[in-house]
Formats: sequence, C-alpha cells, structure tokens
Amino acid sequence: MATPPQTGSASRPLKVILPGTRYHRIRKTVQLICFLIFILLPLFNIVRFDIPHERFYFFGAELWISEFSIIFLALIFLMFSIAAVAMLYGRIYCGYLCPQMIFSEAANALESFINRKVNRSLSQLSPPARKVISVALFSAVLLPAAVFVSFVFISFFVQPADLFQRLLSLDIRTSGGILGASVTLVTLLDFAFLRQRFCTAICPYGYLQNMLADNHTLLVHFSDAQGKCIQCDKCVRACPMGIDIRTSSHQLECTHCAECIDACSGILGKLGRPSLIQYAWGDAGNNAVEEHLWYRRIGLRDGKRIVVLLLMLIYASGLAIAISLRQPVLVRIMPNRITLYTKAPDGLIHNRFRLIAINRGKAQAKLTITLADLPAAQIVGLHDGITLQPGQSLQQEFEISAAANAVQPGVNHLRILTQVVPTQKSEDFDETFIAPMDSAPTPAPGVKP
Ligand code: SF4
Ligand code: SF4
Repeated sequence: MATPPQTGSASRPLKVILPGTRYHRIRKTVQLICFLIFILLPLFNIVRFDIPHERFYFFGAELWISEFSIIFLALIFLMFSIAAVAMLYGRIYCGYLCPQMIFSEAANALESFINRKVNRSLSQLSPPARKVISVALFSAVLLPAAVFVSFVFISFFVQPADLFQRLLSLDIRTSGGILGASVTLVTLLDFAFLRQRFCTAICPYGYLQNMLADNHTLLVHFSDAQGKCIQCDKCVRACPMGIDIRTSSHQLECTHCAECIDACSGILGKLGRPSLIQYAWGDAGNNAVEEHLWYRRIGLRDGKRIVVLLLMLIYASGLAIAISLRQPVLVRIMPNRITLYTKAPDGLIHNRFRLIAINRGKAQAKLTITLADLPAAQIVGLHDGITLQPGQSLQQEFEISAAANAVQPGVNHLRILTQVVPTQKSEDFDETFIAPMDSAPTPAPGVKP
C-alpha cells in the first residue's frame, strides 16, 4: 500500500482521502433509513391525507378536514421545509432521500445483478436467449416490488387496512381499485424504463431546487487549479446520471450523490492525493467539510439562512401549539330561522336551533346543554347528556320553548351553555329567542300593564 507523502518541515502526513467508498456507504445507509421511514409514515399515521375519511394525520394527530387552518399550516410547513432544504443543501434530497432515486438505484442494481448471474451461469446459451431470461427474471421481481411500492404510496391517501382488503379481492372495478391498478402500472413502467430519467425529464422538484440555489448553496464542485487531474474519467463512469462534473457544477442532471467524489478519491488516493471533486459551498469551492465554525459547516452561512431557520422554528412552534390546543370535541349551535317561531296550541312559543357536535378524539365524550339568561325558556327534543363515540358526527335539530306571557315580544336574548366531559371544555353561545309581537309578559303583581 502506498505511503502518503510527508509535508514541509513538520512530520505530519498530508491529509488524503484513502481509496474507498465514503459517501457511497453513507448514502446507502441514509437511503435504507429513508426507505423504512417511507414505509412507516403512512402505516403509523405519521403523515397521511386520508381522502375517503377526510382526515389528515400529522405526527400522530388526527386532524379533521374541518380543521382546515391546522392542515393548511402543516402543509405550508412541509413545503417551506422542502424549499429551505433545497436552498441550503441543493439537490441533496435527490441523491440521499428521494424514494424515486432509491428505487431507481435498487432497480439498476437488481438488473445488473441478474444480468451478471445469468451471463455467468448460462454462458452456454446465446446472448439473445440470456437476455430474454434476464428480462423475465427482472420482471418477475419487479412486479411484486412495484405492487409493494404502490401500496405504500397509496397508503399516504387511503387507510392501509382498506387498501389491503381491496388488494386481496383484486378490486379493479371501483374507482379506488382502478386508481390502485393505475399507480401500480405507472410504478412498474417507471422502474422498468424511466428510473433516473424521471429526475431530469419530469420531476418539477429538480427544477425548483436549481432555482432556489444561490452562492452559498451546497454543490458538488470540481477544482483543479494545479492541473492534477489524470483524465482517468472514473468520475464520469461512476456517475449514475451519466454526466461529467468537471464541465460545470450546475448541471441540471446532477443529484449531488457524490459517487464522483468517491471515484476520484479512490483513484487519486492511491497516488496519495486528495480528491479533486468535493462538496463545496457555492462556486467559490469552499470545501464543505473543512469549515471550522459548526454553524457554517451545517450551512448557516449568511443572514438569509438564519432568517429562514428562524421562520421555520416559528412555523414549527405555531403548528405544535395549534395541535396541542385543538379541542377533540367540536360543538356548534346555530338558529334555524326558516321560521322565526311557531306558536303551539298550548300557548308555548318555539324557536328551532341546529346542533352540530363532532368527537374528533379517541375517547367517548358526553355533551350537556343548558340555558341561561331567559329563565322561562327550556330545551325540547334533546337528551339530557348526549354521548358521542370517538369519530362520531352528530347533527340534530332541537327547540327552545317558552310561554308567550313569560317573554318579551320580539327579540329576547339568552345564552346556550355547553359542557363536554371529560375534556371539561365549556362554551357559551349568545343566541336570540324570537316571540310574536302580540305576546305580552304577564305583569308582576301590583304593576300596571
Ligand atoms: S456528477 Fe457526481 S454528484 Fe452529480 S450526479 Fe454525477 S456522480 Fe452524482
Ligand atoms: S476521477 Fe478525478 S482524476 Fe479521474 S478524471 Fe475524474 S476528476 Fe480527473
């Protein structure tokens, strides 16, 4: 093994990157973790937009579509995070985190593995015959893989248990079943034919990332001021996107995967030299891993980035507070003024109201409704204590009645008080009770009408 050369007067060895696959290993480990996260997010309700049930699951919180403000805040936070990551770290997401890239690289690796095995073990067959066998074997593995990936992807929008039932029954008649079959077909064609071509030809996030980049964004940079490049082209051959990073650091196809860095450090490391390709902050080519200040090393290199980080913290705090303050039981009461009032033969005046109660929590709740400020009024048509099961929505009409001679003609004010057990949340609804203009309260003894 070559001994790294000594430098200057000091006997410290020159710091070189030895042959190896430093970033490749890191990237594959990160991709494996991301693959697991991709599977676990919908299965454990960490992120799922459940379209049939009109729910949005966000880190364990079950948000109803009626809680639009929190959902909106959560979506804005996710979009903001994606944009901020692109501004700080360029296309790191593509190279390390994106499911499309992970599955494309897995498909590439699988195809090469099968080709190698078939060519080696069936060398007596003609090349076309070996090709047919390789394609058949590859397809046999790709089909169940595409079904699995599609299943996980659709689980971001449909409950996995529902989806599993549809899959078992091979449902291709309902709209959900047709959608599932279509996504599976697109996934299959994607990983059979498109793979990384999708990243450069179709994916809008790639274009967005390039637009968000500035002079301090992380990129993969080739620098050879001293003419040390041995023109081995190993970096080009290692690039999964088929580009030559030496021509420019701003190529749309570059996903910042760092395979070229490993390739160059592998070949030049044997000569005791460092790689000519590095992660760098902006075109100035500052080596990203040689920063001394920790905040500059993680990408906080100017005021703009600190403001973005602060904004994200504010968003995240607002979102956490909004989720922690949300009430699991929603109660709404509103008057039904299609008729202002009705007068019963027994002389009672009736006003109609509508109750909407939704239990968005996971425990049973009990709702009690009482009246205040209009002593003669009473509730008709509601149980004394309404039980709401988890997930139950209730819409019910009820009446408030009062004797004609016990209320003022025209508008009377009252409050409807609601209380929820066990959350102990109470709410007052200021409402009006309408009585006919010809009704008259009975004068108190001794008072002239
Ligand atoms: S140029 Fe380098 S970092 Fe960019 S895609 Fe190719 S191998 Fe990956
Ligand atoms: S791998 Fe390094 S030395 Fe070889 S061509 Fe690429 S940049 Fe030059």
